[in-house]
Parts: sequence; structure tokens; C-alpha cells
Amino acid sequence: MTKQVAIIGAGCSGLGAIKCCLEEGLEPTCFEKSDDLGGLWRYTEMVEEGRASIYSSVVTNTSKEMMCFSDFPMPDDFPAYLHNSKVLQYLRLYAEHHQLLKYIQFKTEVCCVTKHPDFANTGQWEIVTEKDGRHKKKTTFDAVLVGNGHFFKPYLPLDSFPGIEKFKGQYIHSRFYKKSQDYHKKIVLVVGIGNSAGDISSEISGTAKQVYLSTRQGSWVLSRVSQQGFPLDMMFSTRFHFWITNALSDGVRAKMIEKQMNGWFNHANYGLQPKDRSTLKEPIVNDFLPSNILCGAVRVKPSIKAFTETSVIFEDGTVVEDLDAVIFATGYSVCFPFLDDSIVNVNEDNKVTLYKYVFPPHLEKPTLAFLGVLQPFGGVIPVVELQSRWATKIFKGAACLPPVSKMEDYIKKSEQLRAKNFTKCRNQSLQAQYVEYMDEVAMEIGVRPNIMRFLLTDPKLACKVFFGPCTPYQYRLTGPGKWNGARKAILTQWNRTLNPSRTRVVYNSQESNFKSHLGYLSLVAAIFICLFCIALSLLL
Ligand code: NAP
Repeated sequence: MTKQVAIIGAGCSGLGAIKCCLEEGLEPTCFEKSDDLGGLWRYTEMVEEGRASIYSSVVTNTSKEMMCFSDFPMPDDFPAYLHNSKVLQYLRLYAEHHQLLKYIQFKTEVCCVTKHPDFANTGQWEIVTEKDGRHKKKTTFDAVLVGNGHFFKPYLPLDSFPGIEKFKGQYIHSRFYKKSQDYHKKIVLVVGIGNSAGDISSEISGTAKQVYLSTRQGSWVLSRVSQQGFPLDMMFSTRFHFWITNALSDGVRAKMIEKQMNGWFNHANYGLQPKDRSTLKEPIVNDFLPSNILCGAVRVKPSIKAFTETSVIFEDGTVVEDLDAVIFATGYSVCFPFLDDSIVNVNEDNKVTLYKYVFPPHLEKPTLAFLGVLQPFGGVIPVVELQSRWATKIFKGAACLPPVSKMEDYIKKSEQLRAKNFTKCRNQSLQAQYVEYMDEVAMEIGVRPNIMRFLLTDPKLACKVFFGPCTPYQYRLTGPGKWNGARKAILTQWNRTLNPSRTRVVYNSQESNFKSHLGYLSLVAAIFICLFCIALSLLL
């Protein structure tokens, strides 16, 4: 009998999951609380309970080639970085192309997911859903994929801000921020230094009287526009870059990263330099913040000591009087309201104990999987898609998990490694290295690209895969789920990236830059191949 899989949420995780179920011969039913697909990428004027809420200006901080589904490149004419409406358009195209809509039950909330009484034998789950807020229904499923997102429960630790209860101005969590008009000619404080804080402070600084940005830790800020104007992630999310940084000692790596991060501007001069520079902290991506600081429209301040009725006092003793509004961009908490803590537990630091961020390790049967409960230094769509490919193979029985003790051991070791490499703060608790994590999951299902084999059979492709951006197509080159268009997609990825901005023909200039970049990569590739051959001949 075909296995029935429940999928919770019709955002990018849920859509990819439906397709993966179909590919593995499983029968998906996707439950979506709202009346449309898209998850956090669907902007609405009103904040909806239980769904992530974005502001109208959100633009992706990963580029289109790095954040697409692995067998469905974005349209040629989409710009390199996308406004949220374009991402939604892409998700609609994906759903239509693969005819996924018929598997989604809209306006249907999953209220409760519990083990079936015979779970130990069957691995089945009982799911209670509520349609249109009225009709409750209990259904049994063979497996469950959870893709409800983790940016809908605001984290607002008001007890960290003494006196906030006395403050007479307006304060909100960034989840409720939509547009800058409300802050016209006001003195505004934005708290935090994640991407929300960076975007919101920059945006309102155009109309506000003055914006202050309070950060405890500081952060690296990078521009989407990297060397020679190429998208940031396409330059740095490469196997070559990952290999180099991993080969370095901790001290040298930290120095190299600091040098790269300070390449655009010296963070110390802007009050942004992270407190802890020996470990990695996900940089924020913002093209405007440094310029707004330089122009005085945004002023960076340290931690908050206290609020009074009308002002804020910072730890350095400075005070901002006549404060009109505060926006707490203090992040989110992971939350699975339909699941009991005994099945999956989110601790105070926002950590979730899952094997490779997907499977709870202690279940008798591996029939529950989580999608996207991590923060990769890269695009989320390729990650959740690969997780779905793995999970659906496990559900089908085409792959299996190691024994519980091995999974627990793995979780412990990877947590130790994460704690050593990443800055200790709440918003880094789900941080993972993109290439490393993708490769690890890819290995589980036999789709990790074999560069050595490509070097012998297709050297051109090998160079692109090793030195070029680690685009999702790399995980469709070989193994189960191989896509015949993957090689071509890799060879043409730069065209799809650069062509949309070539809207006025300028004789040769951009192209020659692009070619000189490729020339540089080819030279490095040639050196690498020579070194590899020498090493190989020495070994043999
Ligand atoms: P976030 O990345 O979790 O950042 C929250 C910030 O709140 C931290 O940087 C921290 O700053 C501050 N904070 C936390 N607890 C605090 C406390 N007790 N007191 C004072 N400050 C505190 O949250 P986010 O910026 O909302 O981002 C959420 C996710 O959405 C991220 O993955 C982000 O990349 C993504 N996002 C993407 C875009 C985009 O693509 N354009 C835009 C917005 C958000 P300190 O370190 O200074 O304490």
C-alpha cells in the first residue's frame, strides 16, 4: 500500500516535500493554515497568527542561483537578488510546473500530532486538523514532514530591558514592522543586529528624524555586491573557499575572515565590529547600513541599561531623550505548537535536538522529519529540498538511520564543533556551514558530487563544481534523482545571474570583467590540478 505522508506547511519546505514524496512513490497531503502557498515569502499587510510576517521591502540576501530548487532554475529575467514578491512568483511557478496544488489543503490548521497507539510497530501518527477554524478531523498517516518555519514566534525578552513598562512611546517586535511611514520625523531605536535590524534601521532612517541601533555583540556587515560586482554568495559559497578556510589553523582563519569582512569598510570605525572575533558569526547582508551610518542617519549604540518614560539609557552612560518608538528586532523562537515536548524539545537557547537537523533520534520508528530547523550560511530552499529528499527515502525504506547511540554521539560531537566554531549567542544556535552540511546530507542519499571522478571524465565541469559557486544543481549531477539538465544549469549559471542587469549594451566592459574572473579561476584551477597530479604521483 502507498504510504501516506502528512506535510505541515506550504512554504518552500512544504512544496519541495510534496514533490519529493511523489518522486518516491509516497502519497502526500499538505496542510496549510492560511489560504495560499508561499510561507514567509507571501507578504500581507496584516500579520497572521502562526505565519512568518515580512516587511514589504524584503529582498533576499542569497542570490537566485544559490537559492533555487536543484532541478528548477529561476527564470532568466529574474534579477540576481529578489524582492519577496519574485520569490513568491518563483514558488508559484514551481508548484504549477510540478502540479503540486492538488495535494495542498488550504485553511487547514494542524492542531495536534501524536503517536498512533501502535506507533512502536507501525510508526504511524494521528493528526488532528481544523478546517476553516471549525471542522476538526483526525487522520492517521504513515509519516510526517514538518515544514512550518521558525520565524513566527517573536523572541522579545522584555525583562532584559529594565523600565520598558514605564516607556510612554510605542514599542513593537520587528515581526509587526511593515513600512517606514509610521516613523516619519520620529526618533527611533532599533534593538538587535540581525538582518531585520539592519534592514529596518536603514529603511526608516530615510524618513525618521534620527535612528539609533543598539547592539550587544556587533556584527560583520557585507554587501550583496561583492568583488567586481558579482553576487556575494556566488563568490564565497564555493568548495574551494570552504576547503581553503578549513585547511587553515583557527587563528589564521579568524584573521583571514576579519580581513575579508573589513574589506568593504573598517567595522571598528562604524561601531559594528563583533565582540568575539575568534569565532564565526553569520554576517548580516546590507548594502545601505554603512552609508547611513556614515551620513549620521543611523547611530550605533551599545547595550541598553534602562528605559525611562521618554528616554533610553545605554551601558556607556549615554542617553537618548525624547524617544518616540522602539523596534525590537530580537529574533524568533523555534516552535512546534502541534507537537509534545517529549517528541521534540526546543531549549532556552533555541536549540533543537535533531540528527543532522532533521530526525529526532529517540523515536522507535524514523517516521517524523523536520525541515529547515537550521540557519545555513546560504540559501534555505536547496537545504530543505535536500532534507526532503533524504527524509522521503527514509520513509520509503530506501535508506536508513544509524542506531540511536550513534545518532546521539553525532549530535553531541557536532554541537561541540558548532560551539567551537560559531559565536556563542542565541541567534547562532542553529548555524551551520552551507557546503559542509549540504554534502553531509547528500552523502546519505548518494548524490554528493564526486569531483575526482569529474576531473577524469569532465574536467570542465569539475572546475566549475570545485571553484565555482556551490549551486544546488551540483546535487542533481549523479545518483538517485539525477537531473539531465544539471550540467547545463551549472555551465550557464553566470549567464542567468548577470544577464538580467545587462539592460543597456555597453561595449565589452562587464563581459571582460566576467571573463577576467573566469580566467583567474581557470589559472587557479590549473595550479590545483598540477598540485593534485604531483601529490598523486608521489603517493603512487
Ligand atoms: P536574529 O538574526 O535572530 O537577530 C536577533 C538580534 O537580536 C541579535 O542579533 C541580537 O543582537 C539581538 N538580541 C537578541 N536577544 C537580545 C537581548 N536579550 N537583548 C538585546 N538584544 C538581543 O533575528 P532577525 O534579524 O529577525 O532575523 C531572523 C532571520 O530572518 C535570520 O535568519 C535572518 O537572516 C532572516 N532575515 C533575512 C532577511 C533578508 O533576507 N533580507 C531580512 C530579515 C531577516 P546582539 O547580538 O547585538 O545582542
